Amino acid sequence: MIMDMKLQMVDLHGQYLKIKEEVDAGIRQVIEASAFINGPQVKEFASNLATYSGCKHVITCGNGTDALQIALMALGLKPGDEVIVPAFTYVASAEVIGLLGLTPVMVDVDYATFNVTVANLEKAVSPKTKAVIPVHLFGQSCDMEPIMQFAEKHHLYVVEDNAQAIGAVYTFSDGTKKHTGTIGHVGCTSFFPSKNLGCYGDGGAIFTNDDALAEQLRMIANHGQRIKYHHAVIGCNSRLDTVQAAVLNAKLEHLDEYCHARYEAARYYTSHLKDVQGIITPDELPQSTHVYHQYTLKVLNGKRDALKQHLADSGIPSMIYYPLPLQQQEAFQGITRAAESLDNAEKLAYSVLSLPVHTELTAEQQDLVINSIKDFFK
Ligand SMILES: *Cc1c(COP(=O)(O)O)cnc(C)c1O
Repeated sequence: MIMDMKLQMVDLHGQYLKIKEEVDAGIRQVIEASAFINGPQVKEFASNLATYSGCKHVITCGNGTDALQIALMALGLKPGDEVIVPAFTYVASAEVIGLLGLTPVMVDVDYATFNVTVANLEKAVSPKTKAVIPVHLFGQSCDMEPIMQFAEKHHLYVVEDNAQAIGAVYTFSDGTKKHTGTIGHVGCTSFFPSKNLGCYGDGGAIFTNDDALAEQLRMIANHGQRIKYHHAVIGCNSRLDTVQAAVLNAKLEHLDEYCHARYEAARYYTSHLKDVQGIITPDELPQSTHVYHQYTLKVLNGKRDALKQHLADSGIPSMIYYPLPLQQQEAFQGITRAAESLDNAEKLAYSVLSLPVHTELTAEQQDLVINSIKDFFK
């Protein structure tokens, strides 16, 4: 089938075909039982995900942005409190801070790993700082051990944005291993279809090992009620759809295999592209596994847009994640404090290019991409 041969950024249909029977059966069960809201599959998935990630509590919700919003709501922050967030990320990480009347304080990221480091965070902390949102961008963990030490020293909450790194594992200096999203006080993830654990619509989840926080998160996601029709706090209505939970139950079983396939595809790209003059292939942090939500090159000397066009001319898709750093977004003008120069965020926004990377990618398809890039730089 020609459609399945086409090179895409992600191949959700190809992935579906391999697990079609499990997914179809799961969806059919939901429809047959017609328990569409909070059906048993939702609880089952939360429990499966808690087991998978080694986390005590998983609270499912409507999407990854809601997860971040609910996490910040549960921490009891007050308007004017500051929350530190990287300037180079998807907007949702910072948007929820502004939405709640808190002040996003933007920090630069490390040029090599795209992630925040303690050195960035140290420059941003003020007496008003209450929390920090490390984003595990493109599929690898921030260096969490020093970040947790930094947070403890300054009495800050750590809310991990794990939307792009579910399945990644971070190793502490004593050898302890933890899944990203379960290291901070709260972790958040998204099941947007193209994420590494994607459903067939919207979905999200919140992780915590703290019992009191878990109760608060659960209550806020459910209209602020612990007991039906008794509303203790102002909350919101954010639920994981039962049909999506059925899809996720089927896909969670394959998550490690999906992470591995992405990692192998990335390794293939890197082995063939690392010596090409004019690009920098992704750096891996030794403390973290990399689950390659994106395979992102840095294209030097202002050639990024020309390379993107060259690839497009050969029918090869590529994407710019993200073309504008947050400090340059109109929405954040006047509501944010920039703690330091955000040079790397700006430099990256003008040089990054993400190549197709997904679980169904073939070596032939990768060769097409590799040869086209080599051809451009020859
Ligand atoms: C996808 C994503 C989100 C938001 O998830 P949604 O489910 O789309 O709301 C938040 N942060 C990051 C880094 C993301 O990539």
